[in-house]
Amino acid sequence: MAGETALNWVGKHRDYLSEVSDTIWDYAEVGFQEFKSSKLLADELEKAGFTVERAVAGLPTAFVATWGSGSPRLGFLAEYDALPGLSQKVTTHREPVKEGAPGHGCGHNIFGAGVMGAVIALKEEMKEDKLPGTIVFYGCPAEELLAGKVFMARAGLFDDLDCALTWHPMGFNMVSLGSMTAMNSVKFTFHGIPAHAAASPEQGRSALDAVELMDIGANYLREHVVQEARIHYVITNGGGEPNVVPPEAQVWYYVRAPKRKDVDAIFERLVKIADGAAMMTDTTYDMKFSTACYDVLPNKALATLLNDSMKKNRSAYMERR
Ligand SMILES: [Zn+2]
Repeated sequence: MAGETALNWVGKHRDYLSEVSDTIWDYAEVGFQEFKSSKLLADELEKAGFTVERAVAGLPTAFVATWGSGSPRLGFLAEYDALPGLSQKVTTHREPVKEGAPGHGCGHNIFGAGVMGAVIALKEEMKEDKLPGTIVFYGCPAEELLAGKVFMARAGLFDDLDCALTWHPMGFNMVSLGSMTAMNSVKFTFHGIPAHAAASPEQGRSALDAVELMDIGANYLREHVVQEARIHYVITNGGGEPNVVPPEAQVWYYVRAPKRKDVDAIFERLVKIADGAAMMTDTTYDMKFSTACYDVLPNKALATLLNDSMKKNRSAYMERR
């Protein structure tokens, strides 16, 4: 039966895969800091016969592990970053290992270990059945920040793939044709002129005023965007003390929508609002992109194939447990 060798391998290595997952859970490293987590996965893949290229795309914790040759070239996307403040023991109630320390929220420890198991199992299957093709495992950092793959795509690491597969841990396994929103994450920093706010306010130009006016403009914009769009912000710098007209202030925006074109259109208007805020307050501003990404582009042919395969192999796998 197709897939039998792979299923056998997974069945025999359940404890090993859980151990890798638990270790990454304990490491609990936040985005771009996943030094131990990425090293563990890269080392294990190397031991399993994969060729590993570390620190790709200029990111110290991104890596690519390949096995096989020729086509098809199949990509598998793995993630392993944790979130700030979610430190947690393995219990059913909230109990941090260390108060305030990072922890895994949605299971990227399982995410990384699961994809690692999948590619090694597939390698065993391809070897056994002499199947042609190349497996490419992508160690993608900082996915809680939606950031890692953006750099990797810019470096052209996905260019020659025939397809890319990924998953996310949940309470159950399923094949999804769902998407996720496209997003821009951008910081707007306004620059004004400092002055004593009581003695000589006429000489000051408040960067904070600009931030506030921009936020008001953005809040009016909400009514005139697609229903599913989301615009959120935090003020990351609002000045120092009330008696100094703030010469610098910053607001950090996320703009999300189901389609990239909607994010682009809304963002263009948000920039006009920033222009307006600067004009009203006689300030200037610059903007810095933290990240931007497309909505997930699902593939129906692949999803159908996966679904059929899951249905076919489910009973076979359950027998092996
Ligand atoms: Zn997640």
